[in-house]
Amino acid sequence: MKKHLFILLFSVISVFASAQTNKITKKACGTGDPGAEWNEWFNKKVEEFKKNNSAQKNQNANYTIPVIFHVIHGGQGVGSYPNISQAQINSQITILNNDFAGTGLNVGNVSSTAFSSLVSNCNVNFCLAQKNPSGATLAEPGIERINYTTNSWANPTSFTTITNFRNYIENTIKPNTIWDPTRYLNMWLTDVDGAVGLLGYATFPPSTGLSGLTSGLGTTTTDGVWCWSRSIGDIGSLSPPYNKGRTATHEIGHWLGLRHIWGDASCGNDFCNDTPAQQQENVGCPGYPHVTCSNGPDGDMFMNFMDYSDDACMYMFTPDQRDRVQTAMSNCPFRTQLTASSATLCGGGPVACSYTVSNFTNTDTLANPLGLRRASAIASETFCPQGAGKAGYISGTNCYGDLEKAEFISASKYASATNPVISGVVVLFFNYIGVGTDGNSNVDMKIYNGSSAASAPGSLIGSTTSNLSTIAATTNTTSVSYCGNPGLAFGVPVIMPYKFIFSSPVNAPTSGGFFASVTLPNIPGDTVVVFDKMTGSSNTGWEKWSDNSWHDMKTAWGGTRNFNLAILPIIDCATGVRENSVLNNAVSLFPNPSNGNFNVITTFATSQNIVITVYNMLGQNVYSNKLNNVSQTIHEVDLKNQAGGVYLVEVKSGTEKVVKRMILNK
Ligand SMILES: [Zn+2]
Repeated sequence: MKKHLFILLFSVISVFASAQTNKITKKACGTGDPGAEWNEWFNKKVEEFKKNNSAQKNQNANYTIPVIFHVIHGGQGVGSYPNISQAQINSQITILNNDFAGTGLNVGNVSSTAFSSLVSNCNVNFCLAQKNPSGATLAEPGIERINYTTNSWANPTSFTTITNFRNYIENTIKPNTIWDPTRYLNMWLTDVDGAVGLLGYATFPPSTGLSGLTSGLGTTTTDGVWCWSRSIGDIGSLSPPYNKGRTATHEIGHWLGLRHIWGDASCGNDFCNDTPAQQQENVGCPGYPHVTCSNGPDGDMFMNFMDYSDDACMYMFTPDQRDRVQTAMSNCPFRTQLTASSATLCGGGPVACSYTVSNFTNTDTLANPLGLRRASAIASETFCPQGAGKAGYISGTNCYGDLEKAEFISASKYASATNPVISGVVVLFFNYIGVGTDGNSNVDMKIYNGSSAASAPGSLIGSTTSNLSTIAATTNTTSVSYCGNPGLAFGVPVIMPYKFIFSSPVNAPTSGGFFASVTLPNIPGDTVVVFDKMTGSSNTGWEKWSDNSWHDMKTAWGGTRNFNLAILPIIDCATGVRENSVLNNAVSLFPNPSNGNFNVITTFATSQNIVITVYNMLGQNVYSNKLNNVSQTIHEVDLKNQAGGVYLVEVKSGTEKVVKRMILNK
C-alpha cells in the first residue's frame, strides 16, 4: 500500500443483528485503530527494524510464544461446549504454527494469483504453556478452565451489545484471570450472543513513552485476545465458515501489530507496502481478481489473514506484515520477554520426564522363545539333567536351576535425565507360564550396580517382588507388531508385558550403569520365560547359576550369540513432580530413544479406552489414536516422518492422563 497522510477513522464495526441467538452470521472483528500516536511510534520501530534487518542480510529471529487458553464455561463437562476439549485447543495451536509459518491450509491456492511470491514465514512459533505462573505443571497443557458461575460472574451470553459485552470481558473476565502477559499470550474463550456479533478482538502491542492518547493497547490487566469459543481450532464445537481457526490467527495478527488490510477506512492504509489498498473488508470467498480502489489488475489481497474472508479462503501474511510482527516481538513491552519464558513454560517439565530404556533398537526382533532350547516338557522332565521340576527355557526357568536373569543398562541410556531414578521395570514374558506345586512362587525384580556389560552385577541397590500367579494372570497381547516389524505378529497371544513397580524409586547410578534382574522360581512346575532378541551386536544378558555365581550368557551358552533380554527399566527424574498414578505406572514407551517407530506398552489390570496423542515441543499434535478395550497391549506409533528431538506422549484414560517424554534420534 502506498504511504500517504490520511485521516484517521475509527473502524466501524458492522454487525448483522441476528434474531437467532448464538449464531454469528457475518465475520466481525472488534479490533480497531489504536490511534495516530501509536501508529507513528510503531511505524518508526518498523523502519528501524527493517534497516537493521537489511544490514543483517534479512535474518529474522525465531520467536516462541507460550499460550494459555482461559476456557470460560458455565459448569459443562470438559469437551461439552463452551467448555471445549483439549483436542480442539491443540488443533488451534497447530493452525497458528502453520499460518504464521506460511504453510497453512489452502496456502497453495495463492499460486493461482499474483500474490504467491509474498507468502511469508513470520518466524513465530506458539506452544501450549506447560506450567502455571507459580510453576506448577498444568493438568491440561495450555488450558485453564474457569466456571463463571462459581465466581458469581454473569453468563457471557447475557450481554447483547458490543459495549456491554466488551465491558464485561475487559472489567470482569480479564483482570480476574490474566496470567503475567510478559510470560504468556492470554487467550480468553467464551460463548457470545449472536446479537453482539463479534468473533474476536485483540489488544495491540504496548508502546513505550507515549502520552496515552491511544486505545486498545495491552496492559497488565488486559493484554491478549478474546475469541468466540466456536471459532477455535478445526475440530470440536465449531460454527462454519469460521471453522478453520483463522479467527485466532487474525486476532493474534493484531496482537503482533498488524492492522486490517483495508486500513479500517475506505481505501485506507495498513502501513504495509506490499498489501494493495482495498475499499473495505471482504466477506465470503471473493473471486480473483477482485478489483477495488484502482488496485487492478491483481485487486484485493482477500486471501490475507487480516481481511474478513471466510476461514478457508484466507491463508497468507506478507513480508511487510512479517516485519511488523518481528518488530513487535523485538521492541514492544511484554512481547520481548515471551521467548525467554518459553524455555521454562514450553518444556515438558518433570511430569514428562519418564522413559523406558533398553538394549533393543527399532530394527530388533524378539526371538520366539519356542525356538530356544527347551529342556523338556513340564509333564515329562526326564530329559532334564539337573533333576525334576526344573524344566523350562534358557532365558527363563530351566532345568539348570538358574536363579536370575539380568540385563545390563548403561548410564549413557539415561544421561539426559536429571537425578534419574528407576521407578519400575517392564518385563516382556512369554505366555508359556507354569505355576508349580506351591501355586504362588515369588518373582522378584532386583536392581544391582553395574560397571559395564562385561562385568558381573555388583551390589544390590533395590528390589521389589511380585508372584507367579499374578504374572500368569496378566492378559496376553494378541498379535504383536513390534518396533515396526510386522513379522513379529504372532498368530496367537504370546507376549505378556508385566511391570514391576518400586514403592520407592531406586536411584539410578549416573556412571557405569545397573543390572535389572528377574528372579526365577524353582518350585517343581514353575516356569517363566523372558523374551530375548537374536540379533544383538554385543551381549548384555547375564544369569545367576544355582551355585550363586554370575555368568554372561554369551559365554555360558557357548559363545555363539549375544543375549539381550526384554527387561525394560522405566527412568524418571527425581526432582519436581512425579506422577505415581495407576495410569503412570501402567504406561511405558519403548524403545526410547527411538528412530521414530516406538511402542506404547500398557499394563492395565482392567481394560480401558485410551487416547494416545503425541506433541512436539511446539505443542503441535503430530499423532493421535483412540484405542478401545485396552489392557495388556503393545501399540505401535509411527513418527518416522517427524524431525528428531523431544516429543511428549500423552496417554489419556477417562479424566486421567499421563505425559511421557520420547526422544527421536534421526
Ligand atoms: Zn481484526
